[in-house]
Amino acid sequence: MSFLHIFKKSAKKRATLAQGQVVPDSSRCVQCGICTYNCPIEIDVRAYAWRGEAIHRSECLTCGECVARCPRGVLRFERTDLFRAAAK
Ligand code: SF4
Ligand code: SF4
Repeated sequence: MSFLHIFKKSAKKRATLAQGQVVPDSSRCVQCGICTYNCPIEIDVRAYAWRGEAIHRSECLTCGECVARCPRGVLRFERTDLFRAAAK
């Protein structure tokens, strides 16, 4: 893998992270665990929903699996710019 390829990949990930994060509405969550079961990198999304916390994990792929699979519409993407926030 060339250096340029790695740089482009990293820039793409950075752009993705800048676009959104998964945010739960804990009042709607029934703790079924479908979100956690479907997360490809095994983030315990259910636990975040229980606590009503946004998923601030750098490993999150922002793939949208958890958002799409939740039968209760608990999860949504919220726009954010983590890099701008970190630079403040
Ligand atoms: S799939 Fe939805 S309702 Fe089920 S635990 Fe996850 S966030 Fe809660
Ligand atoms: S967006 Fe994808 S990687 Fe991130 S928590 Fe949801 S299922 Fe897991």
